[in-house]
Amino acid sequence: MASSNATASLDLPPLPPYTLREQEPLLSWIDDAYLALALPVVGYWVVSLFFHALDVFDLCPQHRLHTPAEVLARNHVSRADVLRDVLFQQVLQTLTGLLLALADGPAMVGREEYDVAVWGRRLRVAQSALPALLGLVGLDATGLGLKLAKAGWPQLGGALAGGKYPWAAHPIVVEGVRSVAPGFARWELQAARAIYWGLIPSIQMAVAVCILDTWQYFLHRAMHLNKYLYVTFHSRHHRLYVPYAYGALYNHPFEGFLLDTAGTGIAYLLTGMTVRQAMIFFTLSSVKTVDDHCGYALPWDPLQRLWPNNAAFHDIHHQSWGIKSNFSQPFFTFWDRLLGTIWTGDEADKLARYERSRRAADRKLSHGAEGHKRPDGLLQPSDSELSDRSGTASPDPIAAAERLDDPQPLRRSPRKKAQPATAASSSSTGQQGSGSLKNLRGRVNGSVHGRGGGVLGVESNH
Ligand SMILES: [Zn+2]
Ligand SMILES: [Zn+2]
Repeated sequence: MASSNATASLDLPPLPPYTLREQEPLLSWIDDAYLALALPVVGYWVVSLFFHALDVFDLCPQHRLHTPAEVLARNHVSRADVLRDVLFQQVLQTLTGLLLALADGPAMVGREEYDVAVWGRRLRVAQSALPALLGLVGLDATGLGLKLAKAGWPQLGGALAGGKYPWAAHPIVVEGVRSVAPGFARWELQAARAIYWGLIPSIQMAVAVCILDTWQYFLHRAMHLNKYLYVTFHSRHHRLYVPYAYGALYNHPFEGFLLDTAGTGIAYLLTGMTVRQAMIFFTLSSVKTVDDHCGYALPWDPLQRLWPNNAAFHDIHHQSWGIKSNFSQPFFTFWDRLLGTIWTGDEADKLARYERSRRAADRKLSHGAEGHKRPDGLLQPSDSELSDRSGTASPDPIAAAERLDDPQPLRRSPRKKAQPATAASSSSTGQQGSGSLKNLRGRVNGSVHGRGGGVLGVESNH
């Protein structure tokens, strides 16, 4: 498709003609649309393998959020199951993307300079308001502009005078008639290019990030507030009390599709991104969620430095005492702050809780070493840890050990103090009496996916 757009209007600089053509792929051997689907998966596994290497070779023990003993003692799912479910989600995500890519036509290019000129014209129109605006404060912008132009500042003078650049005018022929058209000042074209190539894509990316964060916050929060949703779908993700990198997308397939695939897809469609912008956005989102589950608080990790919602923040949400807070993911924390769901305990309180979990896991592991290992590497719950099928479950071993370690009840956060002592919030504080704790656990354990446990903030072993 071609279009000749040289304008007859002489008030504004004419727009250049353009010819659309199919965009060459970024890599000659793969279509951009397929690359946009492959990169998030490749990024997911490259970053996951990096963190897995840190785990296996114990390269950054000082930055670990949890000990290896905790991975064995506290997680309720084997690595093989995690791997299988993550791969399944990625297949589903890629197939969905392929269907959408088939519906989309090829990406077209060729009108970039035309669009830049459109922005240049908008800047010119904005300048035309300057003399009137400056006149409101008693300034003679036109006179001032002329003085500046004579003093060797023609671009600034022209802008102040309302976008008057007589030296940029050039002859044109419109429908056989010779005429003179205004032209763009150099700064106008530079600014227009910066808007077109820098500002607009940055705004699109920022809006996409906000859409994804909003989508995920409210759905994630709903998954915790609604017992059916939690037990049926989200409890699976919370079988990982001690997250590790490639467990990031360990979800029920429906949840994975709804939160991740649909969330990023909707943000992409609503912001009108190009396929190449989508490559960056999809890959960044994928790598970010891996980083959030990596199990390390790394001072040199750019993702953790750039965004407040990082591995340390999300790890709190995976703990029995923090599961009712920190719902925001994957980039910012503003929804948690705005709606009062951020975890508000202080650093000392948090460190003490982490330390208790470490000690309890060590104890559990040393008991488990007496012949209770399962073939999948997870620790077999000992007889005393198994729950009563009648619904009067025995207290969770880790939580019980935490209480034994800490004779003083854990301090409640100010936000939680102000709330009525609901079952869920009181259980997450560790102040729940053992009787009610049993009842709460019984309710969860009696459900279809009781194995996941955590809806009520209590770790379970079956
Ligand atoms: Zn959750
Ligand atoms: Zn998570």
